Amino acid sequence: MKQCSIKNCQGQYEKKYIPRLLKRKGELIVLENVPADVCSVCGDVLISLETAEAMELILENLGTPSKTIPAYKLTESLA
Ligand SMILES: [Zn+2]
Repeated sequence: MKQCSIKNCQGQYEKKYIPRLLKRKGELIVLENVPADVCSVCGDVLISLETAEAMELILENLGTPSKTIPAYKLTESLA
């Protein structure tokens, strides 16, 4: 277990599979199942270089999405 890198945080990183929001040509896409180390206390996320490279590869070769998700804008709901 790795100690959290955030100053004064006593948490430790846990292996988790999380969704990551990415931008590609101005479009938001979601990558699910991204392996990451997530701090159990502050939620800080560490992504390994290998994973980051794999994400880059996927971004260059996006196939058909496995699913689509609804997107909402906060500002419109407040207006
Ligand atoms: Zn932390």
